[in-house]
Amino acid sequence: MSSLQDSHSTDVRSHLHPYTNVIKHRGTGPRVIDRGAGIYVYDDQGKQYIEGMAGLWSVAVGFGEQRLVEAATRQMSQLPYYHTFTHKSHLPVIELAQRLVDYTEGRMATAFFTNSGSEANDTVVKFVWYYNNALGRPLKKKIIARQRAYHGVTVASASLTGLAGNHRDFDLPLPQIKHTSCPHHYRHANPGESEEDFATRLANELEALIQQEGPDTVAAFIGEPLMGAGGVIAPPRTYWQKIQAVCRKHDILVIADEVITGFGRLGKRFGSDVYGIEPDIMVFSKQITSSYQPLAAVLLSPKVNEVIAENSGKVGTLGHGYTASGHPVATAVALENLKIIDERGLIENAADCGALLHEELRALADHPLIGEVRGTGLIAGVELVADKATKRPFDPLGKAGAYAYEQAHEHGLIIRGIQDTVAFCPPLIITPAEVREMVTRFKRTLDDVT
Ligand code: PLP
Repeated sequence: MSSLQDSHSTDVRSHLHPYTNVIKHRGTGPRVIDRGAGIYVYDDQGKQYIEGMAGLWSVAVGFGEQRLVEAATRQMSQLPYYHTFTHKSHLPVIELAQRLVDYTEGRMATAFFTNSGSEANDTVVKFVWYYNNALGRPLKKKIIARQRAYHGVTVASASLTGLAGNHRDFDLPLPQIKHTSCPHHYRHANPGESEEDFATRLANELEALIQQEGPDTVAAFIGEPLMGAGGVIAPPRTYWQKIQAVCRKHDILVIADEVITGFGRLGKRFGSDVYGIEPDIMVFSKQITSSYQPLAAVLLSPKVNEVIAENSGKVGTLGHGYTASGHPVATAVALENLKIIDERGLIENAADCGALLHEELRALADHPLIGEVRGTGLIAGVELVADKATKRPFDPLGKAGAYAYEQAHEHGLIIRGIQDTVAFCPPLIITPAEVREMVTRFKRTLDDVT
């Protein structure tokens, strides 16, 4: 490409971008990111940004980690590709499956690999159906997700997602998928309702939905321990305990989508550990390889695994799998990445730097635009409002986050705008000084928004 301008106009002509207003893109063109180092990325004009979102909630060990480059290179030389169909295996996939199972300390028995979180959640839907067919319960097929959940964009995973933009004009959701309320106390609690009472009300609402659908038709409940892409929504502390009690009563599987929360994001290895979730199925991606390679994993509890295994014994081949399921380079990178997370104490760093991030953001609470600061560990959401007392949204169209996102670039910061919320989810390697610098750049952005 002969010049920056050429590459920009070629992008506009020939690249259809995900999650982008296509017509607007023709006017603005791309922002081309050229390289990264640590928590920073640099665009093609050399401007530096703090990557306050770790890419897409995912680059745990930061950019430019040579150990991951070397792990990929070694594996590329030894065995660049092999599949895992029809009993084939290779050492990195075997070791990674064992490592993931070990991390769960007996709660999970096996790992099934896919390339993305969306494919992993599609796999979950199919496994839940397969499981209930195996148990002779052909009617027990509905899956309950939450409004504002994000579980991906393939046909089944987009149906689980509870965001209108992922359904509109795509003829979704599938009829087997139902949605219940989002556990956002600040926005959805009744006046004067405590977090505890709010959680009880949502559990009662789930019970009512199950009764309305018929308990014999409801197979599973899926949730992110803490919602990410829906706006960084941390549920009340007792929410999951109450939801699980309802699920157990009706023999409904509990699925923890840990695509964002897995491997330390919330200051413990899993989000399930933070919220006391005892899942039957867990889903991981993103931080599993720090997104240096595409990879996701579905982990099955001994109970679910055994039913699926026995059914396959009866009906034959488990008719599911991807060409790149358990790809050798991706699994080798995951192993090295998880080793780095452990060796460098990045989970503890997420707890410590996360506490500092929340302290620094809460110190801005007097700002007239800030309605709520929420999250835990190294993930935070700042909701902008027009009126703190009435919580009137900052923008009737929910565009404040998008505006802040654009402005932040001017101040060398990449954040994410979700309706009127600004999200932070920096690499787990961030230092206290870098947390302060990130918040300083955010303050300058806020001044522009005002
Ligand atoms: N589940 C959760 C919780 C996510 O946050 C995401 C992506 O952001 C997905 C699933 C989908 O993952 P992918 O984009 O890799 O398909």
